Amino acid sequence: MNSPFLCLIAGLTSLALLVSACGDAVTTAVPTAGATALSSPSAIQIQQPTEPAVQPIEPAEQPTETAAQPGPTGVSEALPVLPTPDCAGLFPTPPDAEGPYFLDNTPQRDSLVEPGMSGDRLIVSGYVLTVNCLPLTGVRLEFWQADANGQYDLQGYRLRGHLFTDANGYYRLETILPAIYGGRPRHIHVKVLPPAGGGLTTQLYFPGDSPLPALTVALTQNAAVMQAIFHFVLPTQ
Ligand code: FE
Repeated sequence: MNSPFLCLIAGLTSLALLVSACGDAVTTAVPTAGATALSSPSAIQIQQPTEPAVQPIEPAEQPTETAAQPGPTGVSEALPVLPTPDCAGLFPTPPDAEGPYFLDNTPQRDSLVEPGMSGDRLIVSGYVLTVNCLPLTGVRLEFWQADANGQYDLQGYRLRGHLFTDANGYYRLETILPAIYGGRPRHIHVKVLPPAGGGLTTQLYFPGDSPLPALTVALTQNAAVMQAIFHFVLPTQ
């Protein structure tokens, strides 16, 4: 029983268990840093990250990490995919004014941040669902917004772009926190365009100066980036 051969087998088994344990530790290390108040802008209210929702959407398969391209901040890919939202009490996302600054033919991209761009980095993410809590795949989301000085790019596509929801109805956009301009609260314009048609035009607002609770994101601070969570809910098609 104490032969060199058996000792070798026991040694290799121990090494394999050690490697497996280390691998698990790496793959399950998800940042869960608690919320911390931001130094700026002072008007923004940060919420504590909430517990994952208990009810998975149908189909029940949990979302996997999306293949988001690393943005210039280098933090987008480090954030975990959001848990699926609570299906109880969903109501359609209300529309809001398109405003005068929408431009068509935007580039497809999941980050609006460009080298040298100033402003607080922000990840906007969530799901697009029906009121029956079914995820909507391939929904085109058009985003456009003011920059950190309250200016829109009316000549090109700076801080403009579109992306599509994945197989779980999930989206994630990397951008910056827009500034207040012209007496308006901070906001990001969005068009939600399902492949089957319909959809809506609306705006997302931020805690602290939002005029519409139903269009206000949940804002958290996770590691080095602000995360704004918002789920778009469309009428059953
Ligand atoms: Fe605007």
